[in-house]
Amino acid sequence: MIIDCHTHLNRYVESQPVSLAERYAQLHADMDANGVQHAVVLSSYTINADRPSTDELLALMEGDARVSVVAGVSVPHLGSDQVMHLRRLLETRRIVGLKLYPGYQPFHLYDRAVHPVYELAGDFDVPVMVHTGDTFNPKAKVRYTHPMEVDDVAVDFREVTFVLCHMGNPWFVDAMEVVYKNENVLGDISGLTLGTFEPRYERMVTGKIDEALAFINNPSKLMFGTDWPISDMGSYLAFAAKLETTDDEREGMMWRNAARVFRIPVQEQADG
Ligand SMILES: [Zn+2]
Repeated sequence: MIIDCHTHLNRYVESQPVSLAERYAQLHADMDANGVQHAVVLSSYTINADRPSTDELLALMEGDARVSVVAGVSVPHLGSDQVMHLRRLLETRRIVGLKLYPGYQPFHLYDRAVHPVYELAGDFDVPVMVHTGDTFNPKAKVRYTHPMEVDDVAVDFREVTFVLCHMGNPWFVDAMEVVYKNENVLGDISGLTLGTFEPRYERMVTGKIDEALAFINNPSKLMFGTDWPISDMGSYLAFAAKLETTDDEREGMMWRNAARVFRIPVQEQADG
């Protein structure tokens, strides 16, 4: 059983298909080719020709049990309209989490303006995923993406589960402390390369995640994710296979933690 907890259907580069339906078909093809049973698809903080809205994704994926949707939140536009819309999607369980993009959008997680997001997550028991670390876009401001930013809100909103995406790359040490110390914080290991891993870099990053695994020493804390299509799924699984884990840590990382946090019903498939 493998759950990829972090994928996108955005069009990042011109070589990707223009149509959303084609990118969605490509995701399924890559899942099949790599034995990935379930993917969590994250919508963006912005909507344009290359970045579909949460509603577009939901319409496209209606009835597809192999994907779940996490809604990207646009913090500068976090008025009552957006909050009400998210609340409706959560009430009907059409989305399984919320995603914040500090850095891409310049805001601090602790800013009062963001609190409605944590209140929603608490009300509906869904995780808040947070981009941390290096950004795909050099115009983003990385001081907002430091993993320590997650600690503030993890402490103030104990009932909310936070996912520190990309393990703060390259601030792995800070990320591992925030994940280790806070019961309500997990890390995802997605997005640590563009495309396929280059051997020297893969050795470096494998060492970093091995250190995090050893320091955290808790099988319920890390999740496998790729950041597909930014990162190649096959190369990512090969990287994950090289990590030094206990059997419990591997099972937790590859699917069990994501199934629990996003409430993805996979138990039958896992047993079958
Ligand atoms: Zn991502």
